[in-house]
Amino acid sequence: MSELPPCPKCKSEYSYEMGALLVCPECAHEWSTSDDVTEVARVIKDSAGNVLTDGDDVTIIKDMKVKGSSNTLKVGTKVRNIRLADAPGDHDIEAKVDGFGPMNLKSSIVRKA
Ligand SMILES: [Zn+2]
Repeated sequence: MSELPPCPKCKSEYSYEMGALLVCPECAHEWSTSDDVTEVARVIKDSAGNVLTDGDDVTIIKDMKVKGSSNTLKVGTKVRNIRLADAPGDHDIEAKVDGFGPMNLKSSIVRKA
């Protein structure tokens, strides 16, 4: 197992990884190590298994209801210039979508254009 840094808040050594974050089970503190580490080895792939990188263009492959909007993100919508997000969970892409504005997308519902 890789050695994780102790919790910066309570010094607990039981921190564990959750996505791009480290989590402390004792004080529930969450933090990111990406500021300290030059390159976070995190590979985000699209639905077809292509590795995505910042600046890629992707196409939506699944209709998606958008929170806070009555519109649905439709299959075939092109999303330009994506940014890989550091967010926990599976909404791992940030992008500006025409008609919707900035939002987080799941890599599992896009395909590299
Ligand atoms: Zn802690």
